[in-house]
Amino acid sequence: MTPAGPDDGQLPPPYRGRFAPSPTGPLHFGSLVAAVGSYLDARANGGAWLLRIEDVDQPRTVPGAADGILRTLEGFGFAWDGEVMVQSRRLDAYHAALVRLQLDGDVYPCACSRREIAACAPPRSIDGGLIYPGNCRNGLGGGRAARSWRLRVADKTIAFSDRVQGLVQQNLERSVGDFILLRADGQFAYQLAVVTDDAAQGINAVVRGVDLLDSTPRQIWLQQRLALGTPSYAHLPVVLNAAGEKLSKQTRAAAVDPSAGSAALSAALRFLGQAVPQEISAGPVRDFWPWAIATWSIRRIPALRGMLPGFPA
Ligand code: GLU
Repeated sequence: MTPAGPDDGQLPPPYRGRFAPSPTGPLHFGSLVAAVGSYLDARANGGAWLLRIEDVDQPRTVPGAADGILRTLEGFGFAWDGEVMVQSRRLDAYHAALVRLQLDGDVYPCACSRREIAACAPPRSIDGGLIYPGNCRNGLGGGRAARSWRLRVADKTIAFSDRVQGLVQQNLERSVGDFILLRADGQFAYQLAVVTDDAAQGINAVVRGVDLLDSTPRQIWLQQRLALGTPSYAHLPVVLNAAGEKLSKQTRAAAVDPSAGSAALSAALRFLGQAVPQEISAGPVRDFWPWAIATWSIRRIPALRGMLPGFPA
């Protein structure tokens, strides 16, 4: 993957963006940054901003977290368009996408357990897993039962121009390998859900954390297999804690409190490289949003993968 110089500026209308939190815990400062960035980019482009609760990974979903996230967003004065999409209610759509890929021969059943894959000692994938060695690519061995379904990838470079990170290129075969769309535990994989949902919501501009940059070539490949359009992408730097870890439920990130109002929103905006005057950060939220929409510039966002909060000040 090779980030180069950033692309700039405005996108052609009609812009449709989204924020897609996973309800694995409360909204923390890292997710607030993604919410602020996606919201301002949509509104500054005169676009729509949709919400999607990404609870496709049921074992990681925390009861009540989705409601808490929506209430927090509301408390900060975010205004979304249309109904909130909820992944756990969309299993039929993911199933239909998988069936289409099955009919086209793009996916195959896989019987391999993690242990069997590890025994082949394959190279590491870009996200630290193992590149699938292809044991089941040409059919299941006699008597072996399918555990999961994998998408075939090609020895081909996927390239796209990220609006923040610049040119990104990835060879899927060498970096990822054939990847799972339906897991052994019966859950659809995030990659399939996100591609199906972005298309269903008519999303043409994705603004999200750079932790998903390595997933984007997989998503573009899936869009191509499903004959769906590819949105523009802007990957924002992610917030790291003092230990250099991404804020998340696992790293016990604190919830953001809407009573912090413009001060918290301004901290998120400063993190994204935008200068915020004191009268805005100390003023009411109703003054924050019109000012932030009018002054938003995606070109000021640093093309970095991670930053501690408070930088740049
Ligand atoms: N649900 C993902 C997360 O909370 C974001 C997915 C996306 O924006 O595509 O990290």
